[in-house]
Amino acid sequence: MIEKVLIANRGEIALRIHRACHEMGIKTVAVHSTADENAMHVRLADESVCIGPPPSPDSYLNIPAIISAAEITGADAIHPGYGFLSENAKFAEIIEKHGIIFIGPTAEHINLMGDKISAKEAVKEAGIPVVPGSDGEVSNIKQAKKIAKKIGYPVIVKAASGGGGRGMKIVQDEEALELAVTSAQREAEAAFGDGTVYLEKFLTTPRHVEIQILADTHGNVVHLGERDCSLQRRHQKVLEESPSPALNSAQRDEIGEVCRKAVEKLGYRGAGTIEFLYENGEFYFIEMNTRLQVEHPVTEMITGIDLVKEQIRVADGLPLKHKQEDVKFSGHAIECRINAEDPFTFMPSPGQVKDYHTPGGLDVRVDSGLYARYHIPPHYDSMIAKLIVHGKTRNECLMRLRRSLEEYVIDGIKTTIPLHQKLIREDDFINGDYNIHWLEKYLDSLVAD
Ligand code: ADP
Repeated sequence: MIEKVLIANRGEIALRIHRACHEMGIKTVAVHSTADENAMHVRLADESVCIGPPPSPDSYLNIPAIISAAEITGADAIHPGYGFLSENAKFAEIIEKHGIIFIGPTAEHINLMGDKISAKEAVKEAGIPVVPGSDGEVSNIKQAKKIAKKIGYPVIVKAASGGGGRGMKIVQDEEALELAVTSAQREAEAAFGDGTVYLEKFLTTPRHVEIQILADTHGNVVHLGERDCSLQRRHQKVLEESPSPALNSAQRDEIGEVCRKAVEKLGYRGAGTIEFLYENGEFYFIEMNTRLQVEHPVTEMITGIDLVKEQIRVADGLPLKHKQEDVKFSGHAIECRINAEDPFTFMPSPGQVKDYHTPGGLDVRVDSGLYARYHIPPHYDSMIAKLIVHGKTRNECLMRLRRSLEEYVIDGIKTTIPLHQKLIREDDFINGDYNIHWLEKYLDSLVAD
């Protein structure tokens, strides 16, 4: 039985994991950099270990320091959260070699899905629809031209090891292809140490719809419906909701079942997300994330299933608590990611939080490590809080979100709360009528005004 979990992360997700552990009677160990000595995830944990100076490579990405912390404290499992080492197959492997449980999938599955080309091949084989493209690496321009001509322009050049929206180039015509391929290769080599690129048809007005999966080691797999994450800026999600305004329940059941069966076939364990672009009623796989995602609370709010607890149970060898027929979707949930940034220029705004007041009331959830007089360090991701709201209907959820955003006070720094307040009042958003380009266009229109 897992009795003590080391949380190899920081901020709201470290707290989120701590909460699940404590509800399960499991002790927690926080690790932290010297910049995070006073962070809430450190203050609440049963034990804490400083693992290095502020830069992430020296602390939150420092594998030997994290393993030592686990050994010193006698932790029997490590939860990686998201980001940092969560999709590092080597980390998963080393942990298990030390006789510590990795709360996540096997290193093989992380590797398989970490390479977008092998991921695409594997899921296609397992019955998931994919974006038409090069079916593997494009290594020379002659081959690239041939494939692009066949799938039709516009195309997108993507890095096999890509992540965080980097290493992607959109190409409108043959003339621009050569430069795009070579510069994507160069960029990918520099960013990921792997210059492998591939080609895909560029979908012009898709939505981003993803399916949440949970699988145990006894062959049980369930899907927990979809999340619509189409509101993005620079390929980064800003607001997520479930259900998607674009799907009905029959469509949800259909794609959910396709994913469930595929994950069963792949022999995957733990939580995972299968991401799709959705256009004209068709789903096109883009990637599978082999970890918990930032936006997982919207799924929790409409299913009542605690994803972190399920991850821990699965890692402990226990069967999932729910069969597919037990999974019921209730109402609507929306999450706003709140960043320490100027709401319109997106300039980072770290510093001291002066006054702090969170919204509350029925069906309102705030996941955040903030508190009054907390110093937000400048070294890490700018996301400082997530506001997640549930309602019986999308309309009720929107009303509740409006008043919750009004109540939320984070004084002393700039945050993206004003942006959320504005965009959820837009007709297109209210009508659920948006795709992955909507937010960028909207932001451009604000600058033009
Ligand atoms: P990353 O791992 O870097 O986040 P993804 O493959 O998940 O890369 O793609 C990130 C985003 O890029 C998608 O949410 C979508 O906005 C855009 N994108 C990716 N592939 C395509 C495509 N074939 N057509 C149109 N947009 C795409």
